[in-house]
Amino acid sequence: LLCRLKPGSHGSRSARGSSHPAFPEPSMDELTQALVLGQFEPFFQPKACLTNGTIHSAEALARWRHPQRGLVPPDSFIPLLEQHGLIDQLTEQIVQKTARAWQSWSAQGKQFEVSINLSLSSLSNPGYAARLIAILDHSGIAPRFIVFEVTESAAMSDVPHSLENLARLRMKGYGLSIDDYGTGYSSMQQLIRIPFSELKMDRSFVTAACKDNAQVLVLASSLALAKELRLDSVAEGIESASDWRLLRRLECRYAQGYLIGKPVPQAEFLDSVAGWSEAYANLPHDVRADA
Ligand code: C2E
Ligand code: MG
Ligand code: MG
Ligand code: MG
Repeated sequence: LLCRLKPGSHGSRSARGSSHPAFPEPSMDELTQALVLGQFEPFFQPKACLTNGTIHSAEALARWRHPQRGLVPPDSFIPLLEQHGLIDQLTEQIVQKTARAWQSWSAQGKQFEVSINLSLSSLSNPGYAARLIAILDHSGIAPRFIVFEVTESAAMSDVPHSLENLARLRMKGYGLSIDDYGTGYSSMQQLIRIPFSELKMDRSFVTAACKDNAQVLVLASSLALAKELRLDSVAEGIESASDWRLLRRLECRYAQGYLIGKPVPQAEFLDSVAGWSEAYANLPHDVRADA
């Protein structure tokens, strides 16, 4: 069964709408103004290697630094930017600022992989991959440091040009990750059609597995699939040492979640990484490795 989303929809997230009841939903003018003023910026959340705890990568997560509202989370503006046809402009700004963050860390001797979220509505534009490639080529970052995340439902939908765009990005050498894996419906046939490099287990599966033993099977079978297809595997929503231990035992490759670090501004990222190294070293031995 294929999950067909209309371009511009954003899964169940759009249904929730603005999470700031004290403020009215931002208008198209306000959003356009925010783009012009450059008020959107990426926060970065680390991903750690489950075998040795080292930070391997950072996911860029958009925030709106609003002069009155303060920091606005993406669920309150991404669906609106998609509806108003402005999402491509946001993505370009996030890509540009992420490239700058990468350069700054690199100058301090730290080269992380960085991942960037893409919207389904962008992928229907035939020249989209070429535009992203042009921006990134200009920034001079080697393609192996870049990963694009596309939600499972977006990746599997049959909007025109999406497969073409994804294939171009992959051929350029960027990684391609299936985000929120397990929340959509994908057949094996579709999974092998798109040249993905990573499978990212949705937080809800991780949460369920950590609470209920029977649910572990769901996670284990997705991880087995990733292994079979030779994809990297990442688990979202790792919040405790016991989550870490479970995912490590299931041989998932990378972990992302509040245990390792919350999304932080670029300037705080290296401190967050250092804080995690210390916390990891203090985890009980049986959490870090099997005795
Ligand atoms: P996502 O890509 O699946 O990102 C993971 C979300 O889970 C992030 O929420 C992150 O802050 C949150 N999270 C991470 N670890 C934990 C944890 O341990 N516990 C809990 N409870 N939550 C955790 P955030 O930053 O609010 O982003 C929400 C969604 O908005 C993202 O989901 C992504 O789909 C979308 N998004 C964010 N930035 C962009 C962007 O630049 N472009 C597009 N198209 N979408 C974006
Ligand atoms: Mg993501
Ligand atoms: Mg995700
Ligand atoms: Mg998710």
